[in-house]
Amino acid sequence: MTSNLAEINKKIATAAQASDRNPNDITLVAVSKVHVAETIKPVLDAGHRVFGENRVQEAAEKWPALKDAYSDVELHLIGPLQTNKVRQAVQLFDVIETVDRPKLARTLARIFEEEGKTCDIYIQVNTGHESQKAGIPPEEVDTFIKLCRNELKLPVKGVMCIPPFDEDPTDHFKLLKSIADRNNIKVVSMGMSGDFEKAIEHGATHVRVGTAIFGTRPGY
Ligand SMILES: *Cc1c(COP(=O)(O)O)cnc(C)c1O
Repeated sequence: MTSNLAEINKKIATAAQASDRNPNDITLVAVSKVHVAETIKPVLDAGHRVFGENRVQEAAEKWPALKDAYSDVELHLIGPLQTNKVRQAVQLFDVIETVDRPKLARTLARIFEEEGKTCDIYIQVNTGHESQKAGIPPEEVDTFIKLCRNELKLPVKGVMCIPPFDEDPTDHFKLLKSIADRNNIKVVSMGMSGDFEKAIEHGATHVRVGTAIFGTRPGY
């Protein structure tokens, strides 16, 4: 695992330099979903601190103890968030990457207030207009960002997308980057094990890599 981690970090640096970008401007979100704490610990021991999980319940079982044992962990929620799980998510995560609808945004605003704690939020965009996939449609994203920022006062820090699996992701990466730029958003979360270098070429600041670090996920 740790040799994989070193190799991914090297590839990130190479891809950044190829696009005249500073490797330090790119954050690797190590996607540890499905993997148990014993598998995650070597990556923590190697000094890595930014992780992604896609299920609130699974993260709640694994991460409180790991967060106690390793300081400065930054945990990202990268999977869909149901409104009845928002309080638990807010308590557990530092970043919620999958904010994609007004009802969820309003619930987050209320729970932030009640808990006296906020998370950074990223807006998930359904760049491929896939009916089964989460994310706000690209045509509605500017209005949604305004709602989140101006009315709800949410800390909108980034945008995120998961391109269709069966398409070249290039156009999706370009679209997400253009949405970020025109809304003055600095963080662009895109790129996974198979395409993170291409995502960096198109402006990703955060790449979400699971399989290439931890190996194939059992049951997937
Ligand atoms: C699982 C997952 C990833 C990581 O995918 P890999 O192909 O294993 O690198 C990235 N983003 C999201 C939203 C995921 O659910």
